[in-house]
Amino acid sequence: MENKIIYLDNNATTRVHKEVVKIMLPYFEEYYANPSGMYTFAKNTHIEVEKARAQVASLLNAESIEICFTSCGSEGDNFAIRGIIEANPNKRHIITTRVEHPAVITTFRDFERKGYDVTYLDVDKDGNLDINELEKSIREDTAIVSIMWANNETGVIFDIASISDIVKSKGVILHVDAVQAAGKIPIDMSKNKIDLLTISGHKIHAPKGIGALYIRKGTMIRPVQTGGHHERGRRAGTENVPYIIGFGLACEMAKNNMVHDIAHVKLLRDSLENELVSKIKNTKINGGASERLPNTLNISFQYIEGEGILLMLDRYGICASTGSACSSGTLEPSPILRAMNVPFDFAHSSTRFSFSIYNTMEEVQYTAKKVIEIVDTLRHISPYTPKDFFDK
Ligand code: PLP
Repeated sequence: MENKIIYLDNNATTRVHKEVVKIMLPYFEEYYANPSGMYTFAKNTHIEVEKARAQVASLLNAESIEICFTSCGSEGDNFAIRGIIEANPNKRHIITTRVEHPAVITTFRDFERKGYDVTYLDVDKDGNLDINELEKSIREDTAIVSIMWANNETGVIFDIASISDIVKSKGVILHVDAVQAAGKIPIDMSKNKIDLLTISGHKIHAPKGIGALYIRKGTMIRPVQTGGHHERGRRAGTENVPYIIGFGLACEMAKNNMVHDIAHVKLLRDSLENELVSKIKNTKINGGASERLPNTLNISFQYIEGEGILLMLDRYGICASTGSACSSGTLEPSPILRAMNVPFDFAHSSTRFSFSIYNTMEEVQYTAKKVIEIVDTLRHISPYTPKDFFDK
């Protein structure tokens, strides 16, 4: 294990599947036509793009025309929220939760600054939403409700079926950020009433820089990126052909292997969790009492700092994160854990381990051993550890 990278940060991004790299390569040098072209060389590229669209749609059990390619999850979130608000200029109230990814939260803050009335729904200590609060917060002038499917930091999964029933019973548009859920747990758009759903390629072994927004047929949305008539006039910009094709294959692989992949990552996650909880005193599994993504472990070790843990893990080539990747580097405890009222001395030490199909049990055992040593070392030097802690 020495000198080897042990990558346990798969909610930040994933390794691109070899099959995905392979299928993309010819589209750089051989089949480089712009799919809008009128000649056969271009039409063939167009056919492949449409095949990829069908693969993405199939992962969600949706229709191809409901898939609009984007550059990433952040773009999908922005497009959904801004596009719906712009299409409904008379509605001045919008609803989201306190635990969304910055791609959603900062977009809502932007509208708050512009004078919109924003409801930020609270979560309880386990990271769950109060469905009654959601119902009560919906108003005549609510333009959009945006709620994530699964949380990037804790893996907590919201009850999206009930959420979509409530929001749609009030006739309001529902956007769901499914960047962490898609490809990791089943999503069936024929069984819910969600209007818009964001997904991103790099979380499921496609490259960074490709994603999609699912737009249910009949949804009125204003384009945010204007220009040519690409993506049925919904998102201008020449299609990123190689990435779209790679994304399509990654979605197909995620769908075909889902049962196996869930079992694999869950076994690894549960093993690490059980080992750490049984060998280290005063730990807390954030979101542990809730339904969670099978690949995500968010664990706190009282009295120490997450940054210290990460720096020491890094010496052994172990990659993990504290809070979401976007906010690491700041010493503030994660807003998500704060929203869950996780006590400060636990929130500061939260560490996220997130698994993929490329991780092994050997890596888990090595990581567990190192985490146990590191937590012990840091607790011995931490000014917050009570003097008699090691005697008990
Ligand atoms: N939404 C969630 C829940 C995420 O976890 C992320 C990325 O971490 C995003 C949105 C943004 O996706 P992207 O990195 O593709 O812009």
